[in-house]
Amino acid sequence: MKHIKIALIPGDGIGPEVVAEGVNVLKAIEQLDSDISFTFTEFPWGCEYYLEHGNMMDDDGIDRLREFDAIYLGAVGYPGVPDHISLWDLLLRIRKAFDQYVNLRPVSLLDPSLTPLKSKSEKNIDMLVIRENSEGEYAGAGDWLFKGKPEEVVLQTGVFSRKGTERIIRYAYEEARRSNRTLTSISKGNALNYSMVFWDQVFEEVGKDYPDVTTYSYLVDAASLYFVTHPERFEVVVTSNLFGDIMTDLGAGITGGLGLATGANINPEKTYPSMFEPVHGSAPDIAGKGVANPIAAIWSVSQMLDFFGEEKWGKAVLDTIKSMIGETANLTPDLGGKASTSEVGNRFVEKLTEKD
Ligand code: ATP
Ligand code: MG
Repeated sequence: MKHIKIALIPGDGIGPEVVAEGVNVLKAIEQLDSDISFTFTEFPWGCEYYLEHGNMMDDDGIDRLREFDAIYLGAVGYPGVPDHISLWDLLLRIRKAFDQYVNLRPVSLLDPSLTPLKSKSEKNIDMLVIRENSEGEYAGAGDWLFKGKPEEVVLQTGVFSRKGTERIIRYAYEEARRSNRTLTSISKGNALNYSMVFWDQVFEEVGKDYPDVTTYSYLVDAASLYFVTHPERFEVVVTSNLFGDIMTDLGAGITGGLGLATGANINPEKTYPSMFEPVHGSAPDIAGKGVANPIAAIWSVSQMLDFFGEEKWGKAVLDTIKSMIGETANLTPDLGGKASTSEVGNRFVEKLTEKD
């Protein structure tokens, strides 16, 4: 019997709406499989909490989360609370405290109709972007000198440690080997003459241990072009924190939008909990209307199941998502449908149960 303890942080805006549907999927799986069970403990953290208490999460928040196997997050962010506060005070704090140094973002075209690219049927987009998630451009290092003076200078420093760079690149090589796919590194060694020269060097060095893995290395500007013109070239992709952030939004753009994009923040050693979340934010423009697409959040559930070795269920969830994409009428408005968030969630559970 496998038991998975999940901390829920539904967060702000559409976060609670989509997380509720993901939880329903997990509960359905618990019903269908007597060998798995979940417990859910909800935390009210986020921007509303911030406006009331002055912080995004309790001071002992990290200690309380430590005892869980996984964290399932909706979204944080709210008009009136500066984005850098909601980001640094909760999301990045959790990622750092639990050394979730791998960000796994599938960029996969579930149905040809979903891509805005031309020659849709030829485009087989199925990549896994592995983004460095603990340092790099988002290390928070820098300085603000001579504030407000004519000689004002602002520094934002990228931090690329040997340990941090090697472990993400090694993780990517392992994944490419395991899944028998090519590995592409995205960097910018011609212009970022310290950090990315080092990145490219480590990519080559670590590669010596993986002679069986076919590799490519692209500059981030060229890679952006190829994501649009030749996305089928990419299989496993490894890149830095900033580039990964940008490239995966581009990836979402060519595969159906934010309502379908998922991301897992992984601590591979399982020393600490890993965190699963849709890529999208709190989407204040549609919050409370019941029209948010829950599929990204449900896809995160699939990633969670894979991570805990329940690949059979991870795949069943993904297959069910694929089978729903064909039924446009039963999807939310962002995918051209008329269904509400909970209608999509209910239909999903129905299909998953039928399949089993
Ligand atoms: P944040 O600052 O929290 O990241 P944001 O405004 O930058 O928020 P998102 O909230 O990620 O960006 O979304 C941008 C837009 O995409 C939203 O305003 C919404 O219209 C659309 N969108 C995002 N997620 C979904 C979803 N799950 N279903 C439908 N539309 C969505
Ligand atoms: Mg955003």
